[in-house]
Amino acid sequence: MAKRERFVTHLTCPECALNGTAAWEEDASGNLETTIKSLSDGFKIGPDGETYCTECGVKAIAGRTLSRSEMK
Ligand SMILES: [Zn+2]
Repeated sequence: MAKRERFVTHLTCPECALNGTAAWEEDASGNLETTIKSLSDGFKIGPDGETYCTECGVKAIAGRTLSRSEMK
C-alpha cells in the first residue's frame, strides 16, 4: 500500500476573518489528489473542492500547514 500524507492547514475567511483548520489526506490512488477529511465549523467544501466560508460564501484563504504526518 502506498504511503499517504495527512496534513492540517490553517484557513481564514477574507471577508469576516473567521479562522479555522482543515485536515487533508492524500488520495489512496497516489495521483496527488487530496481529500478534505475534516473542516472547522463555519467552513464548507464547495463544488470545486475548495474551502469556503459558510457565512460569506467566499473562498477561504489557506494559510500555512500546521502539521503533517505520514500514514502507512
Ligand atoms: Zn466569512
